[in-house]
Amino acid sequence: MASSLLFVAFIPVILVLVWKAYRYHLLRSVTGYLDVLNLGHERCTKIQGTAVVCGGSIAGLLTARICRDHFTSVIIVEAEEWTSSPEARRKMPQTSNHTRSRISQYDSLQVCLRLLYLGLHRLFPGLAEECANSGIAVAPADYKTHFWGLPLIMPYHLHSGTLPNTMFASRQALETLLRRLTLGRYARDIRQVIGIVTGLRMGEDGYVDGVKVRMKDGKVDCVDAKLVIDCTGPAAAGRRWLRRAVGVDPNDFKDTLDPKIYYTTTRFVITQDLGARLPIPGGWDAVGGHIHVMFPDAARNGRGFLSIIKAEGNQLFICCGGWAMDRPIYSIEDIKTHTLEIPVDAPVPRWVLDMLDLLKEIEKDSHHSFVCVGPSYKFNYEQFPSLPHNFIAVGDSVSRVNSIFGQGCSKALVGAAALNTLLHKTTVPLHGHLPVNFSYTFFERQARKTRAIWNSTKAADYSQPTTTPMTGEPLDLGLRWRKYRRQITRLAVKDIVVGELLWRNNMMVDITSLDFYHPKIVAKVVWNIAVEKAQEMLLVLSSLSIGFLKTVVSSSLQA
Ligand SMILES: Cc1cc2nc3c(=O)[nH]c(=O)nc-3n(C[C@H](O)[C@H](O)[C@H](O)COP(=O)(O)OP(=O)(O)OC[C@H]3O[C@@H](n4cnc5c(N)ncnc54)[C@H](O)[C@@H]3O)c2cc1C
Repeated sequence: MASSLLFVAFIPVILVLVWKAYRYHLLRSVTGYLDVLNLGHERCTKIQGTAVVCGGSIAGLLTARICRDHFTSVIIVEAEEWTSSPEARRKMPQTSNHTRSRISQYDSLQVCLRLLYLGLHRLFPGLAEECANSGIAVAPADYKTHFWGLPLIMPYHLHSGTLPNTMFASRQALETLLRRLTLGRYARDIRQVIGIVTGLRMGEDGYVDGVKVRMKDGKVDCVDAKLVIDCTGPAAAGRRWLRRAVGVDPNDFKDTLDPKIYYTTTRFVITQDLGARLPIPGGWDAVGGHIHVMFPDAARNGRGFLSIIKAEGNQLFICCGGWAMDRPIYSIEDIKTHTLEIPVDAPVPRWVLDMLDLLKEIEKDSHHSFVCVGPSYKFNYEQFPSLPHNFIAVGDSVSRVNSIFGQGCSKALVGAAALNTLLHKTTVPLHGHLPVNFSYTFFERQARKTRAIWNSTKAADYSQPTTTPMTGEPLDLGLRWRKYRRQITRLAVKDIVVGELLWRNNMMVDITSLDFYHPKIVAKVVWNIAVEKAQEMLLVLSSLSIGFLKTVVSSSLQA
């Protein structure tokens, strides 16, 4: 009797332990968080040979830095010649007029999630000082996000009144900083070659033994490779190389949907005098990065968003865009109209509109970038029947998602960090090959760890009637989850526990799908629905009784 009572008393403890164990399992297997925390450790005995990274942008630079911890040498092959100039590593990139022809985001808004900052912090010791050298603010990751015009509650209470830091850099500044750190600090181990990778040279037993590179002078050279990593972004050049090398087309293993996302980013440079007059709470000088961000509610036919962000060099970025918003938004009056059209419960703060009015003083010097992000896609390489054992791909060359949530660079980091973890677990004989199936193992892991990013952006896209879904899928797929998720967002503007959950989710740190089903969260959602329903009923009842009273009064007056 006593022992069964003891057992019953222990049931909650057992349940908590099982929950924690399962959560840890999810964190390890289907997110990149723990991989990212593990970055920055150099292997004792490096793998003899060269890791060839094709593409030297965000994914390429991150992957090269990680490969440097594992291989005796790393070569980045990048198509754009400018990237080898000192300007491509400069400390104050905003003073450069160069724009990268192959990067559609280059002049658009950039958001660096906390996960990205965490990873960079581990890969590049002294990151905060390097950011300071580039004028990049490192500040608490408060994105001033609003839903229905209401601010999301931020978990300041858990971090002694502040929030963990992130960096607030433009895309230009992020890329030049990464290039400076990767190619500058690790110049002994990482080299960049300018050229276009055109194909793979197959060796024996299903291994690639080199990549073919068309150099500036038109000659084709071959670079020996122990591991080949396709980081060519949306060009996804690797699919052409594979088609030629193994005769199978990765396009046959591709999922596509089109959310029809358009962005207009307007960039202003704020003078000291104007900065002092901008009516931002706390003042322009005190702003870390984000100033005001508004997301739409699809359930109320909202499809536009607004992002106002400060970046290095006193730049102010205002980004307007959304689903099927294919009209550029260039003038400040148009920005105001766009802002006021976002469905809200609480009006846009007056100071936001006043700030926009003040910006008219420098409107003629502003710079615009209008981008159609293009369809979201993912190549399911893990299902590909004949992958070379030492060919992998990271970043947008594998998948691209709706960029509204700022996850692209973090997704590249998750892929690169998964590679790091796998390489640490891999033994390679001296002068030997990577294990057979290395690439399958990698692609399978990367797919698992980036699936949540794909699914969450897809859920947001499927809420919009203008989205073209994946072949064979209706737009109402996952409707129940979306309704639940909307309830969570509704709560996150008034409940600190749910606000904290959403903060971790939006920053991609320490979050699993299980967290959304924590009994405390489910109970809060159910209670909130009940309260909202009761309020609705009360409203109906009160309007009915007012109507009834009016009828009684008017009929008694007539009598
Ligand atoms: C409008 C917009 C806004 C975005 N906002 C954000 C944001 O706020 N936050 C965020 O994290 N992400 C954002 N993204 C996503 C982000 O831009 C991408 O996820 C990121 O750039 C992917 O990096 P990548 O290195 O994989 O590809 P890319 O940056 O596209 O780089 C590919 C590189 O490969 C090179 N290359 C191509 N072909 C070859 C070849 N054959 N040989 C050699 N080199 C080659 C190119 O020159 C280029 O340097 C946004 C994207 C867009 C379009």
